[in-house]
Amino acid sequence: MTHSETLFEEAQKYIPGGVNSPVRAFRGVGGTPVFFKHAEGAYLYDEDDRRYIDYIGSWGPMILGHSDPRIKHALHAQVDLGIGYGAPTSLETEMAKKVCELVPSIDLVRMVNSGTEATMSAVRLARGYTGRDKIVKFEGCYHGHVDSLLVKAGSGALTLGQPNSPGIPASLAELTLTLNFNDIDSVRETFAKMGDEIAAIIVEPVAGNMNCIPPVPGFLEGLREVCDEHGTVLIFDEVMTGFRVSLGGAQGLYGVTPDLTALGKVIGGGLPVGAFGGKREIMEHISPLGPVYQAGTLSGNPLAMCAGLTTLNAISEPGFHDRLTEKTVAVRDGIKAAADAAGIPLAVQSAGAMFGFFFTTEESVTRFDQVMACDVERFKKFFQGMLKEGVYLAPSAFEAGFTTAALSDADIEHTINAAHKVMATL
Ligand code: PLP
Repeated sequence: MTHSETLFEEAQKYIPGGVNSPVRAFRGVGGTPVFFKHAEGAYLYDEDDRRYIDYIGSWGPMILGHSDPRIKHALHAQVDLGIGYGAPTSLETEMAKKVCELVPSIDLVRMVNSGTEATMSAVRLARGYTGRDKIVKFEGCYHGHVDSLLVKAGSGALTLGQPNSPGIPASLAELTLTLNFNDIDSVRETFAKMGDEIAAIIVEPVAGNMNCIPPVPGFLEGLREVCDEHGTVLIFDEVMTGFRVSLGGAQGLYGVTPDLTALGKVIGGGLPVGAFGGKREIMEHISPLGPVYQAGTLSGNPLAMCAGLTTLNAISEPGFHDRLTEKTVAVRDGIKAAADAAGIPLAVQSAGAMFGFFFTTEESVTRFDQVMACDVERFKKFFQGMLKEGVYLAPSAFEAGFTTAALSDADIEHTINAAHKVMATL
């Protein structure tokens, strides 16, 4: 038995499924999850002392690579000053100022502790601001485990939403309309019928929870137009894309401005941080300025702010995202070339430092139903093969991959060589 297998057995005695977040359990790929004890730069080291090139980066936050010395130094210094005060600090203002500078659509920003809290609070704010209850989301987009957002489509676009999980009241799910990502016509049809009842549209501007699907031209622009026509709040969930697809996030990359933005992952540099922010006029409805309640014991915690601010300063260096995008394109195209050489049909896509590959005969994948039609069994074999070769990909056919600044040319070459070997066995 490997150490990971032993540790997983023990974990399952005390933790539901042995994990604190379901995707870590490897149910999507089979086998035992790998337990890690150390991480540095581009690498993770498991409990059996095996090294892996990491393409998950703690599910996004580790854009600089693991154990970046700048973050370690900032954290050590803050630990000496105190771990938390539950009262205002200048660090929080510095962080908020930085976020407002990097994401110009944000006039005011509130820190929270996770992406889930960020989207949940943004939706509450949009409802409180508009006085409306209905919201629109898109099938295949994930916005955290918020009751109103864990909702799937009914049988037709305009039917009542259905809960994705027991425990979510049907009467709440009914307020969530789930439409097709990248299909602006379905959005226009829905708004023609009930636009003035809809508080918000929430969207991942690059869908990263159904693999990696960039917006088709006109989709985000169309959402902006529809929201303007109906007084609906446009929320970009940039928990994944923020500071990753470009310094200014997806809104910077595609030039479409939302009313509110939810942030997470990179903003915390590996510590638990989320944030939501946007137009002053809307944000002024949040307590204590306005009546929409939102709070948090650990929100703006100094250790979390230190890790986040150090990360945001580091990624603001000129050329950072260009270099990261180049690495991403090299990985993406290398995996595609490996598939071509083995005669395996594969589509690849990326946006900034996010990438995805789909075992499909389609040239490109823009829709949820195309994602669902991909060959998941082939993905599982590919994943397990790459893991044996020391390459740690997301253990699910539906998650985007992430690159980090720590990834070297040699790491990329190792990854592509591994892909050639594994593709040949599929
Ligand atoms: N929104 C998006 C786009 C996400 O990818 C995630 C998490 O993966 C979330 C929200 C939820 O963030 P968290 O897991 O920090 O609650």
